[in-house]
Amino acid sequence: QKCACFLVASEVEQTYIMIKPDGVQRGLVGEIISRFEKKGFLLKGLKLFQCPKDLAQEHYKDLKERPFFPNLIDYITSGPVVCMAWEGDGVVASARKLIGATNPLQAEPGTIRGDLAVQTGRNVVHGSDSPDNGKREIGLWFKEGELAQWESVQTPWLIE
Ligand code: UDP
Ligand code: MG
Repeated sequence: QKCACFLVASEVEQTYIMIKPDGVQRGLVGEIISRFEKKGFLLKGLKLFQCPKDLAQEHYKDLKERPFFPNLIDYITSGPVVCMAWEGDGVVASARKLIGATNPLQAEPGTIRGDLAVQTGRNVVHGSDSPDNGKREIGLWFKEGELAQWESVQTPWLIE
């Protein structure tokens, strides 16, 4: 799948964050969004979305040989997800730290998974693992015109 580069003309690093169906069902949408908001990253895109199977398979294509892949696809398509694009210098690695380890029992307290989940197969949130995958995934999950071009009034108070 080619990167939809029209979406990400910004030179600033972007990451794809997704609240998985368990996070939506458990009423954790506001809690999870607020972690990224409070940290100081810029929200570029946001939607509630029922993921079709082929998109879930494309998103997780690197894992398709893994034994848990069919369960993972069932999980991600089992209800609506919240799709987000977040922007900022270092946002990819920082978001991974805010999210915590893949296995929530190993995730540090203070992280989203460490505070809010107990099982790898129900770990409430996704975050891109590299800037290139951030671009790839934002291109997969968002269409042209779905990202907002805006500047936050907070920026001068966050970045010197
Ligand atoms: N996953 C799973 N069982 C495993 C490993 C992963 O169900 O043994 C699921 C889990 O939802 C995880 C996702 O597959 O978040 C993607 O796996 P990855 O290793 O990329 O972890 P992540 O980047 O989400 O921390
Ligand atoms: Mg991953």
